Amino acid sequence: MLDGYKDSQPIVYKILKNAIIDDKSSHAYLIETGGFYDSFNFVMSFVKSLLCPLKKLNKNNCGECHQCEVIDSGNFPEIDVIAPDGLWIKKEQLQNLQKEFTTKALIGNKRIYIIKQADRLNKSAANSILKFLEEPDNNIIAILITDNIYSVLTTIRSRCQILRLKSTDISKEPLNTIEKLKQIITVNQKDNLTTETLEEKIQKVIEFVNYLEKNHLNTLLYIGKLWNDYITSKEEIEMAYEIMINYYKDILNYSLNQPLEIFELNNDIKMISSNNTQDEICRKINKLVELKELIKYNINSNLLMDKLIMTLEGVI
Ligand SMILES: [Zn+2]
Repeated sequence: MLDGYKDSQPIVYKILKNAIIDDKSSHAYLIETGGFYDSFNFVMSFVKSLLCPLKKLNKNNCGECHQCEVIDSGNFPEIDVIAPDGLWIKKEQLQNLQKEFTTKALIGNKRIYIIKQADRLNKSAANSILKFLEEPDNNIIAILITDNIYSVLTTIRSRCQILRLKSTDISKEPLNTIEKLKQIITVNQKDNLTTETLEEKIQKVIEFVNYLEKNHLNTLLYIGKLWNDYITSKEEIEMAYEIMINYYKDILNYSLNQPLEIFELNNDIKMISSNNTQDEICRKINKLVELKELIKYNINSNLLMDKLIMTLEGVI
């Protein structure tokens, strides 16, 4: 049951739990195991919580109804698990899956496919999954699992909500905030930015969030100065969203008494964490993920900013 991971995976648990309660799950997740020994069971608990017919009745996870038992036994027809066949995940494996999805009637309300070792998708397999991810079907959820998100193709990474299980490996070299963000940002154009420009943009995005958290709807009057002067292209907007999502994740970390993953602790993070409940922070993260999806539809960027501010302020 998902609740069993409340302590060992506090941040990912909180984000997923919130998405389930609000019925706002993403259409694709990329989960980095971080060497967490129980990562597949964790994913299956999430899947059960998504599908369980009793989830609305009971805010806790069920795990005991007939359907949850069928899922445990590995015989639930709406869940497909794909793993490398030999060294690679092959195109045919995904084609079979897609065929199954289009021909078989749906039992229940959602279909879920899980791809183990998503870094092992060969090029043509990756292309066929991209089509899946680009034209999401509301009833289908993809969960990709990998030990290292950086070995997953960027095109795939950028279309998934990334969740990193808490690492049990502490041998990694510590990186600073900019280095960590550079690794995490999936937008292609980031490689064309100099470290100084990237640093400036990150700074501006964080200033924007801090301003918004202090001044709320008044921020609408200063979008030009706070944002439009610095964040212009579609790629920059996408990058800015990724930065904001990671910033709020660290705010959530702080509020859950967990070490921050990317940012250095400062008074702004403390302030935002004390002005927002954990549920509010989760809601903001999920809303940002949702709005980030709109960028690719070439939505007018001023409208998107208005929408962002009003959504984060809970007005719409
Ligand atoms: Zn159940």
